[in-house]
Order: sequence, then structure tokens, then C-alpha cells
Amino acid sequence: MASDSSLETLTFDNVWSRFPEDFFTRVKPTPWRDTRLLDVSPSGAALLGLDPEEIDRDRLTALMSGERLLSGMDPLAQKYTGHQFGTYNPALGDGRGLLLGEAMTSQGPIDLHLKGAGKTPYSRFGDGRAVLRSSIREYLAGEAMAGLKIPTTMALAVAVNGEKVMRERVEPGATLLRLAESHVRFGHFEWLYQQQRVEDIERLMRHVIDRHRPDLAQETAPLEALFQDVVTRTAELIARWQAYGFVHAVMNTDNMSILGLTLDYGPYAFMDRFESNLTPNHTDTTGRYAFDQQPGVALWNLTVLGQSLTPLIAVERLREILDTYEPTLQAAYAILMRGRLGLETEQESDGKLIEDWLSLLESSRADFHRSFRALSDQDVVGGLSLREEIVGSGSGHQLDEWLARYRQRLAEESRGETERLAAMRRVNPLYVLRTHLAQQVIEAAQEGDTRPLQTFRELLSSPFLQRPGMDVWSEAPSPSAPPVCLSCSS
Ligand code: AMP
Ligand code: MG
Repeated sequence: MASDSSLETLTFDNVWSRFPEDFFTRVKPTPWRDTRLLDVSPSGAALLGLDPEEIDRDRLTALMSGERLLSGMDPLAQKYTGHQFGTYNPALGDGRGLLLGEAMTSQGPIDLHLKGAGKTPYSRFGDGRAVLRSSIREYLAGEAMAGLKIPTTMALAVAVNGEKVMRERVEPGATLLRLAESHVRFGHFEWLYQQQRVEDIERLMRHVIDRHRPDLAQETAPLEALFQDVVTRTAELIARWQAYGFVHAVMNTDNMSILGLTLDYGPYAFMDRFESNLTPNHTDTTGRYAFDQQPGVALWNLTVLGQSLTPLIAVERLREILDTYEPTLQAAYAILMRGRLGLETEQESDGKLIEDWLSLLESSRADFHRSFRALSDQDVVGGLSLREEIVGSGSGHQLDEWLARYRQRLAEESRGETERLAAMRRVNPLYVLRTHLAQQVIEAAQEGDTRPLQTFRELLSSPFLQRPGMDVWSEAPSPSAPPVCLSCSS
């Protein structure tokens, strides 16, 4: 059986469908007409223990069109609630995606979730559909985040459909077959808490422990240990977002994963030039979810989750656990940023060195990723030197001053330069999921050309490795190009 890796070999153990019946509604996907597969992800396939070459494309297409499920699947829409932009919304749930089944792989359980599968009782005013633009953006985001070693959901594949969907304009419809170790959200707990269903809160916590964090069952207080685990992993996740210039843009509590995965990609962005208050979602007019707000928002969200656990964990304990968030985030961020600057040892002044580097990038309007990569390439990246990246806007003096301090600091490290630069190139990506590049891929796919999608997906899945002839995929947007407009309407 080992060589047979087709979809049909997947086995399912659908725990969710055995939960109390109001935890979900059984819904069959609404089939799409004329579905065409655009790309299959080797990383997604690997997550399921499948060889991408052996996946039957026709079978996968039939699954993604919603026409033919796999044996053992039991599709359902999950119920949850959440705080959206700070306001509690009781009417949430899977409105345009279905949990098709929970696959049991050799690495553990993996949810197969079809996004764009049609209306559910939780669709509210929505049509239950997803558009090609957003589906490609979510597909690439999973690859990019995994490539950067940032915990995330992934996708097995993305498909376009023959039917059109109405958004701000008419767009091609699409489906995404999303994979995640779990889709349990902070909002699942908020929903149970609002109804004071203490037994069900405990049931859901024990489910997360049994299925995803079995080590915690050995602890003297497993429920507290689970909350600690969520706080720690969320802090580490946010540290990674901040270190790599990622803005989620819709950090509502229903979009927060109990496993600390990046979940629900909408109007997200990786920065181009460093902008500490970048808010890519143009409808977020107050900048609630701006880049520099993310650490605080995640703590706010964790506090909402903690509130939902008050029937089971003493408030004092919850507070103590929440107090570990900030130091955990700071420590994780410092480790990542020292790594990005090639520092192996730790010194008190490193925080200031990092801060000043970011200020320099911000004031000079230099490209965030290319500047880090330029430092790792000994001032040369794609034919452009760090000096050209930064000095363009008259920050030459500031750069010289910072470089002098940086060199002095490097002199205190024992590692040789060649070794240091090689290590830096393993943490400073060359290929980043920039909005303008994603947009080019989307436009090509809309014209029927999927080669750019495949190329970009491959580069993003190993973003540190320079490939010949691929320089266009590491370029910053032209300063004169109009910004791509992003919103939640997807
Ligand atoms: P999001 O902003 O993607 O996290 O979505 C928030 C809520 O709206 C979730 O409950 C979604 O399922 C629902 N939703 C978003 N778009 C649609 C749509 N096109 N049709 C139905 N429900 C949707
Ligand atoms: Mg969501």
C-alpha cells in the first residue's frame, strides 16, 4: 500500500460530527459547474502523506467542484462566534466553507476544509462562494508562511470554476481545499461561554488536548496547561509575523487558531518598504489591525479567550498565564531578529541596534526584505547594493552610522563571515509574497495562464534559495505603481 498515494487511500475519523448537534450543521457542498484545477501543492500533499504526482487530477477536480466527496467524508459547517473589530457577533460560523472530513495521517489528524463550497445556515447575507483572486492569495499565503516556518494552514489545491461571482465587480468563482491540523478557533469557546455551557467548554478543551496536545494530559492541571500553550504559541506566532513584516489585517477572534496557526487569509500583506503602521485592509480606517498593533490585538484576543474559560480556570491563574505573553513574544522576537542580523550571541545593546535598523528602513523608505537580504549578501542583492536600497532618499549618513555600529557588534562574534552570511541567507528570504506579485499571478490565471502561479508557489516554498533567472520574483513594486486595493470582500 505504501506506493499507493491516491486521494482514495485517505482515511477519516470525523470527531466533530460526533459532537453535540448544535456544534455544527451537516451541509453538502453546492456543486460548481466547469471546475478546473489550477495547481496542486507538493507541500500540501506531503502534509497528507501523498505524492502529488500520484494524485488523480480528475478525482481531485470532482472533489473541489463539490460533486464527489471521498469515502469517509461527512461534510459540515462549524458553528462559532467572535469579536469582529472589537464587537461581539453571535451570528458567525462557516459561511462559505465546509469541514469535509478529518483525515488521519501518519503525522496526525488533518482537516480537509473546502472553502467556497456554497451556502450554510451561517452564511448570513453571503453567497457561500469564494473568488479566484482571494483563493489564489490564500493558496500562496500557506506556501509562503510554511516556507518561512511560520505556523499556518495550507492548501492542497486551488481550482477555478466556470461560474461568476458578484463582489465589488463580477469575478471568477473558485474553491480552495484547505488543510489544517485543526480549525478550532477562539470563537468556538466564546460561543459556548455566551451560553454558559461549562460542560461543553470543557469537552472542547479536552478534545484539543486529546487530539492535538496529548502531552498536556499528563500535567496536573491540563486545562490551565492548554491555555498556557495557546498563549505561548500565539506569542511565538506574532513574533514571527512581526519579524517577517506580515500583516494579517483581520485579527478578529474568530480568525484566531487555538493551535497558534495563521488562519483565514483575507486582505493580508507582507510589507514592501517598512511601514510600522501598515494597514492593508482599506476598510480598516482606524488602523485597528495595523502592523504595529498586532502584538496588542493578539493579547486582547487571548484575554477574550481567557474570559470564556473563567467557568473552569480561576481568574487569578488566567491573569498569571496572560502575563507570560509579553515576555514570551519579546524573547521570541529578539531571537528571530538577532538571527536575521547574523548575531549568534546576545547583548544588551542588540535591542537598540534592531530598533535603529528598522527606523533607518522606515525613514529611508527602503524595501524591508531586500535590505535584510542585502545585509546577508554582503551588500549585494539582485545587482542592487544595500546602499542603493537605503541611500536613495538621502539617508546615507544614517546608514554609515548604523553600519559602523553593526560592524563593531559583529566583531564581537566568534563566527567567521562566510559562515555568518550563509546562516543569514537561511533566515532572510529572497522570494516574498508581495502583493503586486500575487496580483500578477492572479491576472495571468484569470487569462488562463497558470505558469506564474506554479513558479511563484515553488519559489515561496523555499524562499531562501536563490534560483537563476528568477530575479523578477524578488523585486519590490515600482514606486510609481498604484497600490493594489485589498478588502474583506472575498
Ligand atoms: P472572514 O472575514 O472571512 O473571517 O468571514 C467572517 C464571517 O463571514 C465568517 O463567518 C464567514 O464564513 C462569513 N463569510 C464571509 N464571506 C462569505 C460569503 N461570501 N458567503 C457566506 N459567508 C461568508
Ligand atoms: Mg474568518
